[in-house]
Amino acid sequence: MDNFDPASLWNLCLGEAEKNLDKTEFDSWLKGSSFEDMSGTLMVIRFRNSFVAGHAKSRFGSMMEEILRDLSGRPDLALQFIGDPAKPGPSSKDFVPPGIGGAGSDSMFLRANYTFDHFVVGPNNQLAHAGALAVSRNAGSSTYNPLFIYGGVGLGKTHLIQAIAHSIRQDESGMTFRYLSTEFVVGTFINCVLQKDYTKFRKLFQGIDYLLMDDIQFLEGKVETQEAFFHRFNELHQQEKQIVLTSDRPPHELKDLPERLISRFQWGLVADIKPPEFETRLAILMLLVRDEGIEIDREVLDFIAASITKNVRQLSGVVHRLAAISRLTGSRIDMELAEKEIKSTLGTISRRLTPGAITSAVAEEFNISPSQLRGKHRKRNILIPRQVAMTLLRELTSMSLKEIGAFFSGRDHSTVLNSIERIEELRESDRDLDRKIEDIKRKLNSL
Ligand code: ADP
Ligand code: MG
Repeated sequence: MDNFDPASLWNLCLGEAEKNLDKTEFDSWLKGSSFEDMSGTLMVIRFRNSFVAGHAKSRFGSMMEEILRDLSGRPDLALQFIGDPAKPGPSSKDFVPPGIGGAGSDSMFLRANYTFDHFVVGPNNQLAHAGALAVSRNAGSSTYNPLFIYGGVGLGKTHLIQAIAHSIRQDESGMTFRYLSTEFVVGTFINCVLQKDYTKFRKLFQGIDYLLMDDIQFLEGKVETQEAFFHRFNELHQQEKQIVLTSDRPPHELKDLPERLISRFQWGLVADIKPPEFETRLAILMLLVRDEGIEIDREVLDFIAASITKNVRQLSGVVHRLAAISRLTGSRIDMELAEKEIKSTLGTISRRLTPGAITSAVAEEFNISPSQLRGKHRKRNILIPRQVAMTLLRELTSMSLKEIGAFFSGRDHSTVLNSIERIEELRESDRDLDRKIEDIKRKLNSL
C-alpha cells in the first residue's frame, strides 16, 4: 500500500467495483462514497446517509472488503460504512437483503470475472475444478452432492463457486441458484430469531436448483444456525438439489460442528485446492496482465511468480497495483517497481527472507548491484556472487530449483543445481568466501 494514500485506495476500489456491478446498482449505492478516516486497520467510508450506508454494507460489504484487500495487499484491512448522522435512514428491516424474495434476487454479488474462463487449472486445483464443472452441467448427481471445496486463503474457492453460478446463469436450462456467504446465512438466522419469524431463513433455501454456500467454516460455534441449516441441507439433498460448499478446512477439521453435519459434508465429492506451483502461478499472472491490458516483461513476471508462492490473491493484488501505478504515472513496470510491491504484499514478517532481500544482502556483501546479480553477465566477480545467491535462496527459502532459475533471468534448474554444487565445493577451499557467506546469513538473521 506504500504507493497509495487511503483516499485514492478507496477510489481504486470503487473503480474495480464499477467494473463488476450493474451501472444502476453501482450508481445507487456506491457512487459518491468517500474515504473518511483510517483507524488502525479499519477504513471508514462515508455514504450520503445511513440508509445507503446500511444497504451498501449488507449488499457490498464483503465484496468491497475483498477488493480492498486485493488492491492493498493487506488481508487485515476491514471496512466500516457510515452515513450522515444528522439524517438517520429507515431502520434495517425496511430493506430487503440480497438473496431473499423478489425476482432477480437470485444471488449476492458475483464478481464479473470469477468465471471458468478466467480460472487457470493446474495440478493444485484440478479436482476441485473438475467437480465444479461437472456440477455446473449436471445438478444433483449423487456422486458430487454435495461438492465440498476446501483450501487456504486466497486460493480460488470463491472464484470457483461463483464460476458455477455464472455458468448456470448463462446456460438456457432455466436452472436457478442462490449464492450465499455463510456469514449472511448466520446473520439472517439471527434476525429471524430476534423477530421470532423464520420465513426469511427458510426462503433462502427455497425455489432453487443449486445452493452455493461460501465459507461454511463460519458455522463453527453457531449451534442454532447449524441445527436449522442441517434441516435445510437434508431437504435440498432429498430433492436432489445440488449443494456446493466451500471451507478453509476439510470437513473433519471443522470444530464444534455436529458429527451428522460433518458426515453429510462428506457424502459427495470433497476436493481440495492447494497453493499453485510455479507454472500455474505464471499462467495466472499472464491472465491477470492480459485482463488489465498492460504489459509486463516476462522477466518481471518470472520474478513475481517466484516470489509470491502461497496465495493467489496476493498475486492478483500485485498485478492490480502495478497496473494502477503504470496507468497513473505512465511508467514502465520494471523489476524495482515489482519488488517494491512484492515487499509491501508479503509484509514485514516474511520480508527478511524474500528472494529480493536475500539477493540484496548478497549484492551488498560483494559490492555489486542486485540487477547485475540477477542479470546475464558471466564475469567471475559477478558469477560467484550470483551462485552464492542461488545457494542461499535454496537454503533459506522454500523455492524450488526451477523457481530460483526463473528468478535469475530465466535460467534453468540444472544451472541452479550446478551453481549450488560449485559453491559448496569452493567454500571448502576458499576461507574468504566461506566467511562472506556466513556474514550474509548473520545479517539476514538480524534483519
Ligand atoms: P478464496 O475464496 O479461496 O480465499 P478467491 O477465490 O477469492 O480465494 O481467490 C483470490 C483471488 O485469486 C481472486 O482474485 C481469484 O480470481 C484469483 N484466483 C485464484 N485462483 C485462481 C486461478 N486458478 N486462476 C485465476 N485466478 C485465480
Ligand atoms: Mg473466499
